[in-house]
Amino acid sequence: MSLLERYRDLLPITDTTPLISLAEGNTPLISAPRLAREIGVRELWLKFEGMNPTGSFKDRGMVMAIAKALEEGARSVVCASTGNTSASAAAYAARAGLEAVVIVPAGKIALGKLAQALMYGAKLVAVDGNFDAALDIVRKMGDNYPITVVNSVNHYRIEGQTTAAYEIVDTLGDAPDALCLPVGNAGNITAYWLGFRRYHERGKTTHLPKMLGFQAEGASPIVQGAPFEKPHTLATAINIGNPASWRFAVGARDESKGCIDCVSDDEIVVAWRDLARCEGVFCEPASAAGIAGLRKLMQQGAAEPDARYVAVLTGHGLKDPAMAVEQFAAPTPIAPTMAAIERALGW
Ligand SMILES: *Cc1c(COP(=O)(O)O)cnc(C)c1O
Repeated sequence: MSLLERYRDLLPITDTTPLISLAEGNTPLISAPRLAREIGVRELWLKFEGMNPTGSFKDRGMVMAIAKALEEGARSVVCASTGNTSASAAAYAARAGLEAVVIVPAGKIALGKLAQALMYGAKLVAVDGNFDAALDIVRKMGDNYPITVVNSVNHYRIEGQTTAAYEIVDTLGDAPDALCLPVGNAGNITAYWLGFRRYHERGKTTHLPKMLGFQAEGASPIVQGAPFEKPHTLATAINIGNPASWRFAVGARDESKGCIDCVSDDEIVVAWRDLARCEGVFCEPASAAGIAGLRKLMQQGAAEPDARYVAVLTGHGLKDPAMAVEQFAAPTPIAPTMAAIERALGW
């Protein structure tokens, strides 16, 4: 059953909503005992959103937003993107027979994401400026042209993304004690909190989880309490200086008695590597911010060791292969002899 069908009763679906699908959602919740032990928590699960059809959680919101755009008779959609939103918009627009226009910050998009937008046939425009500048233009386009904006300012995106919270509860049988996730434009933390509350109201959980959101230090406006003019982090998916869902994220933090903190690029890279090496799960750099953040809280004595944590791994590692090779140098070639191999392996 498709995602929109499965959670139909919890989503803004009517008799005339086309139930499009690329088999999004239903992503694995992977237990991470080695990483849990290493970080010092009792129980840790990884919600691996990289397993969605275009390789990120954006597909959950996009399937809903494109279905509603179709229902409302739209011909084209537009988004600003650090990469994954454009990949997802382009794929679902292609599937639905809509035109997709994608505005990206020039030179700041990971290779895999750029390749996706190109392959799915979006009209791709690169602007000299950051994500926030691209989103400003997109909002104006939405006001001036008959085109549907499918950034997370479109509330159908947030609605679709609530499904990840339902899946976690459906798998665990209850809400976790805390959810750790990266925060960029802050749509996802908003959606999870909405989803957990909605499921709780329906009696599907005994409690509500703490929301533990993490920004990159160089792009941490919510933590610092002011927009960043020039955000900078190697975690390009969260390189955002003025989050659209800022106040909802603060609401999620306060209502859940959680936190929004920041982690350095070095902490992100270490967590990113540990996920791959300890658990065999390869996510993109931004996705590791939740694990980096949980580790930081544990080191500060600010997180409960005896609790059940879920960390959301928002996107797939193959989105940004260049970053992996840059951070963990590929080997230089040697002679194809046993002696040279033994030397290289230190045997
Ligand atoms: C979009 C995205 C984020 C940030 O999500 P927000 O909803 O913007 O906070 C984090 N990681 C990845 C891989 C993303 O694509």
